[in-house]
Amino acid sequence: MPSWMRLLCSWKMVLRHDAMKIVCLGGGQLGLMLAASGVRLGVGFSFVDEDRHAPAGRLGSLLDPRQEAVLEAHLSDQDVAAITCEREDVAESLLGFLEGRLRPAPDVLRVTRDRLKEKELFSALGISCAPYQAVAGLQDLEQAAGRLGLPMVLKTRCGGYDGKGQLVIHDAGEMAAAWQAMAPQLCLAEAFLPFSCELSLIAVRSLTGEMAFYPLTRNVHHQGILRLSLAPHADADLEGQAKEWVGRLLQHWQLVGTLAVEFFLCQGQLLANEIAPRPHNSGHWTMVGCRSSQFDNHLRAILGWPLGDTGALGPAAMVNFIGDAPEAGQLAPWPGGWLYGKTARPRRKLGHLSLCASDAAQRAFLVQGLAGWPGVWLPPDLDVVCRGSHVGWR
Ligand code: AMP
Repeated sequence: MPSWMRLLCSWKMVLRHDAMKIVCLGGGQLGLMLAASGVRLGVGFSFVDEDRHAPAGRLGSLLDPRQEAVLEAHLSDQDVAAITCEREDVAESLLGFLEGRLRPAPDVLRVTRDRLKEKELFSALGISCAPYQAVAGLQDLEQAAGRLGLPMVLKTRCGGYDGKGQLVIHDAGEMAAAWQAMAPQLCLAEAFLPFSCELSLIAVRSLTGEMAFYPLTRNVHHQGILRLSLAPHADADLEGQAKEWVGRLLQHWQLVGTLAVEFFLCQGQLLANEIAPRPHNSGHWTMVGCRSSQFDNHLRAILGWPLGDTGALGPAAMVNFIGDAPEAGQLAPWPGGWLYGKTARPRRKLGHLSLCASDAAQRAFLVQGLAGWPGVWLPPDLDVVCRGSHVGWR
């Protein structure tokens, strides 16, 4: 090939690479951090989001899903290398339009946005979870109490998150009021689990079929909202079990992208709670605690690029800022500090800080130092929690 042609070819490669675009359904903080992973590689983003102040708008253009013709034209653009999502509540019409093109596939979202379908899939794949029953009326609820016992947790099948759309029923006298609070939404009743801790495992599967798993993470919630994550939670048996189950889900769906599964640890046994087919809040620590973060790997997976190293660099932690957040200047010295640019509201996730320490004692010291920061809640037994989640090297 003459040298002028070689030059032209390489120039075309550069042009094509520069023009690589990804469309993400949802423009929240997860989209923002995903776009940050793409920026350094010249990957451009647009986000489908009704909110014209959505956080990801800082790093890409926002597309209003109500402007259907514009959206369809954008989604059909030849330059779009991949279409992905950062949330599950995607309109069915859009899912139908994206059949065969969305990574992960629409069927994954159809299951993971419905708690009952999730539980049925756990059961079908032999993944342990809390005993449950579908509830569509007061009679079902009374039946469920007879079968599952009290206390029991009543959850809406769709739309609940961060403790919203769920309540605990302690005795039979609360049954009617509980149903009234939820009706007419379809619900799910679950046995109340006296768990000792909550854990999550995040995995990624590429278009090429390559899979990678992050270390097990320990999560501490307060008022139904994640406040603190610690990783790696070095328990080889639990991690092995979690990886096996999450691998089963990845294979079942031939999933392309990131998958997070939350677990309860109950009498030494893992019980799966929820699936998120996207990067997850409990995986933000990977941005400073691993060579390749969950966002880097999500991007690689949907583009069919080789996956990056998911091993931990040291004992890491992540603290959420809920309802309030520090000033940017206070956060600036921390490379793992993020502010999402959202208006402060009670119970709203406004940012987080991740850190990676040289040993578990330093991690406990650094996390303790965040006590009193705006929006930070730490467990009273932080020392014990930190010690229970030691470093594991791979
Ligand atoms: P979820 O929206 O299912 O992740 O639930 C939010 C939080 O509520 C969890 O992180 C737990 O702290 C608590 N929770 C959910 N389900 C149960 C259950 N079956 N038993 C006890 N606590 C639960």
